[in-house]
Amino acid sequence: MAEAAQTQMEISNEVAIQIENMNKWYGTFHVLRDIDLTVYRGERIVIAGPSGSGKSTLIRCINALEEHQKGSISVDGTRLSSDVKNIDRIRSEVGMVFQHFNLFPHLTILENCTLAPIWVRKTPKKEAEEIAMHFLTKVKIPDQAKKYPGQLSGGQQQRVAIARSLCMRPRIMLFDEPTSALDPEMIKEVLDTMVELAEEGMTMLCVTHEMGFARQVANRVIFMDAGQIVEQNEPEEFFNNPQNERTKLFLSQIL
Ligand code: ADP
Ligand code: MG
Repeated sequence: MAEAAQTQMEISNEVAIQIENMNKWYGTFHVLRDIDLTVYRGERIVIAGPSGSGKSTLIRCINALEEHQKGSISVDGTRLSSDVKNIDRIRSEVGMVFQHFNLFPHLTILENCTLAPIWVRKTPKKEAEEIAMHFLTKVKIPDQAKKYPGQLSGGQQQRVAIARSLCMRPRIMLFDEPTSALDPEMIKEVLDTMVELAEEGMTMLCVTHEMGFARQVANRVIFMDAGQIVEQNEPEEFFNNPQNERTKLFLSQIL
């Protein structure tokens, strides 16, 4: 990565997300166990781990798409509670991109991007459209604005999903396997968009199997297994010198 870009990817000592002793159950199934995690502003964290280890559940707890039952989660100093006000505040700071894009099929690309700013943020329509075009340009598909999601490739749809999130001006972005549903030739265009975001200093938590991305962009890789954070380290150490047996097994299977 270019040196100029690297220097922008600074990590501050300001806490963006603080998770303490967090536990979650689905019914009687103890899905997340004693999660402790502090994320500093500007961090790019990759979350890795086998299927079913709780990666999606963890990031869904951070913006309250899932409830946790024990321990605490704070985002920018706002503690997540059942108070709807807090949840709205946290959701407006935290953008999320899913594996399956989740665009509204009956709305144009532009409308997908302006819907929440207009209805949630009360941004005037014209201004919302300008902001949307700004971010569609940033993800390199301004020319698709009038089309519907079904007319776009998977890679383009995922870039729309990223632009749509950015239109809400989040300070933190969560990605849940954003490239897993894409054909190989489209993975790069989405990863390139994510790299750019990282270079601009966005705080990012990315669940991904793209270990090249982890090496290039992450400052920290977190490995989860059976609902626990088993190991975490900077990418170099994580890949070259894994400590935990479960991490070693996982890496031997995917690398
Ligand atoms: P990952 O993203 O690492 O694959 P998930 O967080 O999706 O893992 O799931 C962790 C575990 O919780 C899995 O065993 C999964 O089957 C279970 N699980 C996920 N969502 C639900 C749900 N809504 N209800 C019950 N069990 C669930
Ligand atoms: Mg998942």
